[in-house]
Amino acid sequence: MSEEREMITGIEVPIYLKYHFTAGEATARFLSQVRQGKLVGQRCPSCNNVYLPPRGSCAACGVATTEEVEVADKCTVESFTIVYIPIPGNPIQPPYVIANLIPDGANISFIHLLSECDNDTVHRGQRVQAVWKPQEEWDYAMDNIRYFKPLDEPDVPSESIGKVPVTGWEV
Ligand SMILES: [Zn+2]
Repeated sequence: MSEEREMITGIEVPIYLKYHFTAGEATARFLSQVRQGKLVGQRCPSCNNVYLPPRGSCAACGVATTEEVEVADKCTVESFTIVYIPIPGNPIQPPYVIANLIPDGANISFIHLLSECDNDTVHRGQRVQAVWKPQEEWDYAMDNIRYFKPLDEPDVPSESIGKVPVTGWEV
C-alpha cells in the first residue's frame, strides 16, 4: 500500500544557549566607559594606531596597548553593506545599512548601524554621528548608541580614511 507523504524541508526547534562572556581587562574597561557615554580606545606605542574598541594589544605589532585615548562619537564611513535579508530574532527589519566606522581620533574601524539616511546615498568617506539612547538606559554595551546618522559635513577623501585621525573635534 503506497502512502503519500508530505515533504518536510525543515523544522523549527527553539534552542536557547546562555553564555557567560569573560570580557578581559581591555574590553571590561572599555564597556565601563561606554556605560558613562564615553568612547575610549587605546593607542599602540609602536605604530600609533588607535583601536576602538581596544583589545589590549596591537594586532599589527603584537605589543600591549595601555595608553587610553578618548575619541569622538563622530565617525567616517570606511565601508558598508545594505542588508536585504531578514535575520531571525533580529528586530531590525531590512533593508538597513551596516557600516565599518572610523571614529575621529582613531584609525581602526568598528561595526555599527546607520539610520536616518537614504540607503542609496550612503557612501565611503561620509561623515556620521552617534544617536545615543537616553542616559538612564545606558548599560555595558555598544548598543547604548542606537545607530549613527549622517552629518552635514564634507566627505573625508578616500585616500585619507583611516590614515590620519581626523582632528579638531571635541568630546
Ligand atoms: Zn601597532
